[in-house]
Amino acid sequence: MIDTDKYIQQLASPRLPLAISIQTKLITLIREFLVESGFQELLPVIISPITDPLTDYRVRGEVECYGFKYQITKSMIFHKQLALRTVPKIFCFSPNVRIETPDRKNSGRHLIEFVQLDLEVRQASRQEIIELGEKLFSRVINGIKKEAASELKMLKRKLPSFRPPFERISYQQAVETYGEDFEMKLSEKLAGPAWLVDFPLEHREFYDRQDEKKPGLLVDMDLIYPEGFGEALSGGEREYQPDKIRKRIQEKGIDLRTYELYLRLADRGLYPSAGFGFGLERLTRYVCGFEDIAEARLFAKKPGVYGL
Ligand code: AMP
Ligand code: MG
Repeated sequence: MIDTDKYIQQLASPRLPLAISIQTKLITLIREFLVESGFQELLPVIISPITDPLTDYRVRGEVECYGFKYQITKSMIFHKQLALRTVPKIFCFSPNVRIETPDRKNSGRHLIEFVQLDLEVRQASRQEIIELGEKLFSRVINGIKKEAASELKMLKRKLPSFRPPFERISYQQAVETYGEDFEMKLSEKLAGPAWLVDFPLEHREFYDRQDEKKPGLLVDMDLIYPEGFGEALSGGEREYQPDKIRKRIQEKGIDLRTYELYLRLADRGLYPSAGFGFGLERLTRYVCGFEDIAEARLFAKKPGVYGL
């Protein structure tokens, strides 16, 4: 049952208008920076025969139209790769639906419907995308401190400065220091944002590119927020050679027929590329200093909870 009283009360929350005002300004700052940097904005894809496998998410959101099955977008990774045939630098505010397990209900970081700022650049290296991410986050965080000074004051939120280059930590170093479950422990220790690099192959999807010089490791990265806010983004260089993509799919134990359409398109040629995606609600949560991501948007849907 949906509790209408709760929703009406939530719509009148004094913090929500502040969060929405901050989010509007964040979106403007992101868009301005990316357009100035030569990116073109794509409209989001919401249903498609193909979407990100995200193999740890067991439930597939599906809709049927005219007898055909469409999947609801978990991320636009494959569409980003294909779109690079048309334009070289792309971004999209892309709605994602991920049916997260109910134990993530109170993580403070997970919703089952969220918006990802997804970007991808033809022929880019991880290093170039890391530098782009550092410029983007510095511009956005330092910009919002000025543009939303009064909202931040009302929320009693003091943001640190983001100054490139950000600290860099390898996955292996993080595990050695904080154990396998390092995300939150590392984030709590950080005074500024940090890049986590070189994830082992088995921890990510088949489309992240393997490092030729370090077999078993990927040319990928996450950005971790300081102050215990956890992961901000994930990205990396992508596998673009069809034979390697096939090998990686098989190594995951996935039947090649599941990705037949994607593979047929990849056979026609994909550009080498790199990019990343970050959750907009997580950014808003971080900027506002909220414990609960559900405060960072209207109509938030938490894992395991029926929502509006
Ligand atoms: P991923 O590629 O799975 O790491 O997703 C990209 C980014 O989207 C993450 O780094 C988060 O910022 C955001 N994100 C992923 N899952 C969720 C979720 N369930 N709720 C809110 N944001 C999410
Ligand atoms: Mg991630």
